[in-house]
Amino acid sequence: MSEKVKVAIIGSGPAGLTAAIYAARADLNPVVIEGEPSSTTDQPGGQLMLTTEIENFPGFVEGIMGPELMSNFRSQAERFGARFDTTKVSRVDFSERPFKLWTNNQTGSEPRYLADSIIISTGARSLLMNIDRETELIGHGVSTCATCDGFFFRDHHIAVVGGGDSALEEAGFLTKFANTVTIIHRRNELRASKIMQDRAFANPKISFIWDSTVTDLHGASSLTGITVTNRITGEKTELPVTGLFVAIGHSPNTDIFKGQIDMDEVGYIITNEGTATNVPGVFACGDVQDHTYRQAITAAGSGCMAAIDIEKWLKHTED
Ligand code: NAP
Repeated sequence: MSEKVKVAIIGSGPAGLTAAIYAARADLNPVVIEGEPSSTTDQPGGQLMLTTEIENFPGFVEGIMGPELMSNFRSQAERFGARFDTTKVSRVDFSERPFKLWTNNQTGSEPRYLADSIIISTGARSLLMNIDRETELIGHGVSTCATCDGFFFRDHHIAVVGGGDSALEEAGFLTKFANTVTIIHRRNELRASKIMQDRAFANPKISFIWDSTVTDLHGASSLTGITVTNRITGEKTELPVTGLFVAIGHSPNTDIFKGQIDMDEVGYIITNEGTATNVPGVFACGDVQDHTYRQAITAAGSGCMAAIDIEKWLKHTED
């Protein structure tokens, strides 16, 4: 049988769990469909579960480990009465209220939840190169976030993969810490904007390896070097870097919402007036609707906004 809920929150990163804390404290009795541990890179708690130490989340003078921070968020939401369902949403129907949600752990074909309102906080994932040991070494030399991890690479020699604005921006940021930054790009022409290219070419700490990809990662417990293979000649070069930043793009986790809600051309949910989507009663927060800032603190901030927006919206529709 379907369960009726006032607020269903889909996703349990900083955005979803902050929304849960605020919605629970507002007596909205939210259920958080938190995801399920399906692989190293896909589990409840979102991208911070893949991060080691977080030093820039305000309030933690000495820093905090990503998984511990997310566990604290979750306990805080639980303390105010948020309920958790450790599964994934498999299908949604936003065509009429109550909104229908089906989940992976349900039995039968009826929707698992009938929700008066929805907060989507399913986040985004960094694209990876899909080479051996890449996910295993995340947090141990391999990173997808220079803002998060750059500080740990003071005086190191590091490499950045990608030829877009993100790769060049990350490379520029990383030169504040690293001795050298080598950008490895699979073509001989960058995709990034002219101004970013000019800056990168003018930076004496940045060098380029063209027409190449990273094909091997070395090091037992943390990265000690990489093999770079030229895609034209097949020549292999060993690079003794201790940091590798993969900046080949992000992808929002919005496949299940396609056709139900307005998205931009790459699949980020479009929000207006705070966190409202084009479907009244469906709100979105965090990285699933933000490809600019992508920080835990900005995701948490927009989760708070979503809970306040939903409270106002429910009050308005119930009046
Ligand atoms: P992007 O523009 O899609 O660039 C991704 C880069 O990664 C491309 O150079 C691509 O190579 C390379 N790549 C993709 N898959 C790869 C693989 N499997 N192995 C090796 N290389 C691979 O992504 P982005 O740089 O994250 O930027 C996304 C959007 O945000 C863009 O619109 C960008 O302008 C914007 N952005 C703007 C700023 C800024 O203005 N400050 C900063 C960051 C991002 P190819 O070039 O060969 O396809």
